[in-house]
Amino acid sequence: MQSHCDLIIVGAGAGGIGAAHAAKKAGLNFCVLEASHRVGGRGLTEELAPGVPWDLGCHWLHSGSINPLATVASEVGVHFEKDLPSRAFYMGGEKLPPQQQSDFTDYMSAQWLRVSDSAARGEDIALSELIDYESPWAPYYCYWQSLMTSEDVDNFSALDLFNYEDTDENWPLREGYGELLCRHAQKLPIELNTRVEKIDFSGTGIVVTSNRGTLQAKYVVVTVSTGVLGARDIQFVPELPIATCEAIASLPLGCYNNFAMLYEEDWPFDEDTPDRIDYSNGNDINFAFKLKCSGWPYIYCAVGGRQARWLERQPLEESEQMMMGALVDVFGADFRKKITRFRASAWGDDPLIKGAFSASLPGNSHQRAVLAVPIADRLCFAGEAASERAFCTAHGAWQSGRDAVLKLVV
Ligand SMILES: Cc1cc2nc3c(=O)[nH]c(=O)nc-3n(C[C@H](O)[C@H](O)[C@H](O)COP(=O)(O)OP(=O)(O)OC[C@H]3O[C@@H](n4cnc5c(N)ncnc54)[C@H](O)[C@@H]3O)c2cc1C
Repeated sequence: MQSHCDLIIVGAGAGGIGAAHAAKKAGLNFCVLEASHRVGGRGLTEELAPGVPWDLGCHWLHSGSINPLATVASEVGVHFEKDLPSRAFYMGGEKLPPQQQSDFTDYMSAQWLRVSDSAARGEDIALSELIDYESPWAPYYCYWQSLMTSEDVDNFSALDLFNYEDTDENWPLREGYGELLCRHAQKLPIELNTRVEKIDFSGTGIVVTSNRGTLQAKYVVVTVSTGVLGARDIQFVPELPIATCEAIASLPLGCYNNFAMLYEEDWPFDEDTPDRIDYSNGNDINFAFKLKCSGWPYIYCAVGGRQARWLERQPLEESEQMMMGALVDVFGADFRKKITRFRASAWGDDPLIKGAFSASLPGNSHQRAVLAVPIADRLCFAGEAASERAFCTAHGAWQSGRDAVLKLVV
């Protein structure tokens, strides 16, 4: 590892990789320090069965047509699907008739109108204050929103949700999002197993201390999660400005985990079963299942907020029983036998992340911009939490890493 460079990037997740590509393009002498043995951070693809990839972290290219990583995917040979899958709502075991399916869609649209009206009034309040709880769709809506932010509706800002740039195009990646990030990171100067412990920006340059020694640079871009920053796993000298500390504290990570259920038949459902099903028992059990993932034989599901936190602390069987209960409700008791493997991620437990993605606390949607303001013209925070329009996503992290380099150096 060299001892001096123009720029040090801390973290090799989507944000660090975006920053590294910008640094490369600008012709900088730079390196990326990554604590883990792998690149990708919250992008991680593993095999569910031999030759069957599944994402434990990011999975969809959100806002596909404006997502810069869609172009990268094509460049590195990762495929994605643009077609909207067929979808139906099941209340308990019953598939809803068309009229009720459209009542559900109307309810979702009406809730969004409440969010946009609140934003127009200049409010920055918890989403829970805007929800129509009288509707039978409310429990499912709360579940769905916990997937957007990895927090529960009382714990995040509705204005933040409004600020997110959503084109409603969510494209899954066949070879996996983690795989895309790995391929995109090839040939970048990334030092793995290098945990940054201290960043001293008290002099004219910056001194970065890691478990592998000391390095000096003119500029540093830090892309670790707000979970890691909030836990003070990296010491800053001098202390960070109060505004930055407040921004970090206002953008804590929620909890969110992916689940995969492998089946061995090609399509163990009836011919007319939709590709995706939304399930609610009208109360506390709500799930969105994708029944086939980019042609792979597994069911995908996700859980966010307090339910995700609770499930992560339970044995895996608890999640399996809960999800299987819903699937049995829809497909009958025999369906249980068709699932041969059940897997889950556990991001809250990952010491290098400490959660899922950042949820802005009510009253704090402005803090993403504050987090992204350079400090002393040489230190800048980046990553998903510092993105104003694409937070909570891999492409938002990537863009924010790139922007941080441009702000500091170019
Ligand atoms: C279950 C789940 C599902 C998701 N689904 C989607 C999705 O479908 N689509 C989407 O766009 N986004 C999704 N996301 C969000 C997306 O994965 C993240 O927003 C994005 O990957 C964050 O990238 P980042 O670079 O900001 O942070 P990270 O990925 O956290 O990268 C930071 C890196 O810093 C490293 N690090 C930590 N501490 C140190 C240290 N002291 N020294 C050096 N390195 C350190 C970490 O190991 C990590 O590699 C999902 C996230 C989760 C958890």
